[in-house]
Amino acid sequence: MKIAFLSDVHANLEALLAVRKKLQDLHPEKIFFLGDIVGYGANPNECIEIIRELADFSIAGNHDWTAVGNSSAESFNPSARHAIDWTRDRMSAASIEYIDGLPLQKKTKFFLCTHATPENPQDWGYIFTDSDAAASFGHFAQPLCFIGHTHYPAIFTLRPDGDIDSDVPLHARLQKNCRYIINNGSVGQPRDGNAYASFGMLDTASSEYTLVRVRYDVETAQTKIIAAGLPHILAERLERGR
Ligand code: ZN
Repeated sequence: MKIAFLSDVHANLEALLAVRKKLQDLHPEKIFFLGDIVGYGANPNECIEIIRELADFSIAGNHDWTAVGNSSAESFNPSARHAIDWTRDRMSAASIEYIDGLPLQKKTKFFLCTHATPENPQDWGYIFTDSDAAASFGHFAQPLCFIGHTHYPAIFTLRPDGDIDSDVPLHARLQKNCRYIINNGSVGQPRDGNAYASFGMLDTASSEYTLVRVRYDVETAQTKIIAAGLPHILAERLERGR
């Protein structure tokens, strides 16, 4: 079965439309969404509607949860806070109800999906480094954990001897005797220096994982952010992918 893992759309409709089009070519059997539909971008309600329709299941991210008042914006920087206040004022009743009903994690026999970390997902911790990953491998039982949140694609591998290493491969064949934490990057606000939208595809039959990058209309997304009165930095960073 081919499964697509999407994360961190951040109300960037142009990026999400480009990813949806790419998914039509790749035709995965399942699409899982790993959190943060809203925050930063100018089209929260439109993106919620698309994810609702597109994803077989969704979990909430910290921006989603903060927009509906389930988490505090305390740790947000000023532009993130500005954007979340702007978002909250514009979310429809249907959008709020949908986001408020999302779980924080999804478990199957083979993988755990969580926006931030497997442990204490509501604390919104980050997995950036091998030692961050080392602290998390003991908190899920499945071979695989799919995450978002950092907006940096990465595969953290726990080898049978206990060693952990990480890489950002475009293609990887997952080994049966290893366990993995996989970050699929961000659809709507990539931060790894590549401005293209990012998501992951897993073929469960061949154990092959692919990181997919998709070009999208960055300029329109930027124009909308500025027209909405959102901080200019949120528009500028889209073209830098930082
Ligand atoms: Zn995010």
